[in-house]
Amino acid sequence: QQNIVITIDGPSGVGKGTLCQALAEKLGFELLDSGAIYRVLGVAAVKSAVALDDETALAALAAKLDIRFVPENGVVKVLLNGEDVSSEIRTEIAGNNASKVAPFAQVRSALLQRQRDFSTEKGLIADGRDMGTVVFPQAQVKIFLDASSEERAKRRFKQLQQKGVAADYDQILSEIKERDFRDRNRAVAPLKPADDAFLLDSSALSISEVIEKALQCVGLRI
Ligand code: C5P
Repeated sequence: QQNIVITIDGPSGVGKGTLCQALAEKLGFELLDSGAIYRVLGVAAVKSAVALDDETALAALAAKLDIRFVPENGVVKVLLNGEDVSSEIRTEIAGNNASKVAPFAQVRSALLQRQRDFSTEKGLIADGRDMGTVVFPQAQVKIFLDASSEERAKRRFKQLQQKGVAADYDQILSEIKERDFRDRNRAVAPLKPADDAFLLDSSALSISEVIEKALQCVGLRI
């Protein structure tokens, strides 16, 4: 009997994090936020002065990366060498740096087993870009969550406004497009739906509608 894995892949800002958290809670599954691992690697590289284009040095760093996910009061803290980097990894710069270290084959293979180890008999929701295509090709349920770049920029803009952070819609849109381009066009593990993935476009859906549709997909396969 194989452990159950549900993969949720898709571009940045599409709402994967929210969907994955909801699914993990509803189903009682563990959660793998693979993007956080690439973000931590980017932060670790900057901290130890490793160039973001030095594949060999980045892969060595990835292989010995001391990263821990510690649940505390309903939120998950991300620790790098025991230091809380939870906020630091969520900045736009950290996201961009993550997408700079992510294209390298040696980096991705150094992080592969670490990601697979998240799968236990409790069940796993795996959030990322290549969860269904590379990390968990045997996953029982694969969902590719998509939305137009304009819709994703609009949501991000609103989020920042609500937080009282000054934001520029055009800049957000161009950053989203830039990151998408890098993620979709890299040679290794590019962002794309697995052949057996359900395609879910959230552009015109509310969060609860997305969760409901995702649960319908789960019901079809499990
Ligand atoms: O999902 P998140 O925005 O946190 O991911 C940050 C970056 O890490 C992505 O833009 C992508 O370049 C990279 N990533 C990846 N493979 C994953 C998850 C994230 O290449 N499975």
